[in-house]
Amino acid sequence: MAVKDLVYDGDKRLKQVCSEVEKVDEDIKQLAQDMLDTMYKYDGIGLAACQIGVMKRVVTYDVNYIDEGAKKKPVVLINPKIVWTSKSKVEVEEGCLSFPDVFKNITRYEKVKTEYIGLDGKKRIISANGIEAVVIQHELDHLDGIVFLDRVDKK
Ligand code: ZN
Repeated sequence: MAVKDLVYDGDKRLKQVCSEVEKVDEDIKQLAQDMLDTMYKYDGIGLAACQIGVMKRVVTYDVNYIDEGAKKKPVVLINPKIVWTSKSKVEVEEGCLSFPDVFKNITRYEKVKTEYIGLDGKKRIISANGIEAVVIQHELDHLDGIVFLDRVDKK
């Protein structure tokens, strides 16, 4: 277990663009494990590496482990890139581990397809919808220095 300190609102690292992972080596595997440990510890369903201060394009999430006791289903995305989005959108209330106690309705694509590299170094595509699609869009934004408050609907 290696739970890391979280980066919070006001920290400039949340506004910076993260760099691509060049090679899935032991350091990246350790980073992914640290991120999962930290995410579960703080009851998050998603985390980007910059939220523990590592400026690399790595995201973890688990939309299965919402209640304690549920089966964990961790996902690690390296260098993820959304390659397709549905026309339909959904509005969901989002929070963020870097913004404790802040919840806002955000409009996102209902379905996305994301290309990424897995921990085994292989390129894959994941199709997601609903909450999983929302989490992916939220976390990928972090890699480009965008936080959910930047996406609040301007009505
Ligand atoms: Zn977040």
